[in-house]
Amino acid sequence: MENMVIIGSGPAGLTAAIYSARAGLKPVVLEGIQPGGQLVITNLIENYPGFLDGIDGPTLMMTLRSQAERFGARLKSGEVTAVDFRRKPFQVVVDGGEALEAKTIIIATGASAIYLGLESEQALIGRGVSACATCDAALYRDKAVAVVGGGDTAMEEALFLARFASRVTIIHRRDQFRASKIMIERVLKNPKIQVLWNSVVIEVLDVVRREVVGLRLKHIQTGAISDLPVEGLFVAIGHRPNTEPFAGQVATDKTGYILTDHTRTNIPGVFAAGDVQDPEYRQAITAAGSGCMAALEAERYLNA
Ligand code: NDP
Repeated sequence: MENMVIIGSGPAGLTAAIYSARAGLKPVVLEGIQPGGQLVITNLIENYPGFLDGIDGPTLMMTLRSQAERFGARLKSGEVTAVDFRRKPFQVVVDGGEALEAKTIIIATGASAIYLGLESEQALIGRGVSACATCDAALYRDKAVAVVGGGDTAMEEALFLARFASRVTIIHRRDQFRASKIMIERVLKNPKIQVLWNSVVIEVLDVVRREVVGLRLKHIQTGAISDLPVEGLFVAIGHRPNTEPFAGQVATDKTGYILTDHTRTNIPGVFAAGDVQDPEYRQAITAAGSGCMAALEAERYLNA
């Protein structure tokens, strides 16, 4: 039986691993489908303290990973498909097969991009529709693309795309962005970026479901319909917590975020850290901070 199983390997999971490994708990970290979490598909992180010129996401995550291993954390690949928190020790099923038993659990499974939910959009994911500019921007060199959303993610995606694309159109459903001021200023100053306010995408246009050729838009106030020729659509409208394997096992809010008191869930011995329990801040540094808190609280629980 393990002292601790940490589910997820983003900044929350790996910081929990560093702290609990240093406390001699020999934690097992289950890395999940995207080892390193969302930061591995992030370009330059400029607001993580300690890096004057910023640091790229994959480098930060590889460093955290090595740091956790150096202190004795055991990283295992695999995705958690089911859990049983009603019995002790807790049980965690990996890839539908092997079951691990643990005295404490830290859930740090993060969040995933939300799509618009249009049938035409779903049919074209990977063929012109994307939720990751860092992954796909280079495919759109000298092409026109659009970004949907008005938060920091949308601004970041648009700025990154503008390095490659001929034109970037941000489509936003209101007449003001919710992103931070510095990001809005950078976007509005960029000559390659234009904004269509009060507009929504109602259909992704394509050639027999092969490639995106444009977007059908609706103006929210006038109801006017128009077509925008683009070859790529980047959806940046927020994220959903990755809590499917924990359904019914741990208390969540109505959108699926795990409810925590500090990092304690409603099940003693089960803790949650990072984006999976944080609909508000969702920053790499807050995720790392809550990973530290979860490790300290789990250690206290084990010593009580
Ligand atoms: P947000 O929730 O902040 O923004 C989502 C945006 O998408 C909003 O503008 C929202 O519109 C719009 N939207 C939501 N649903 C739809 C829909 N169905 N159709 C059209 N538009 C829709 O998410 P983000 O991912 O941008 O940011 C999440 C958090 O991460 C924030 O706290 C942000 O500050 C942080 N972040 C920080 C970064 C940084 O500091 N470098 C980089 C990226 C993210 P509306 O405004 O009308 O609600």
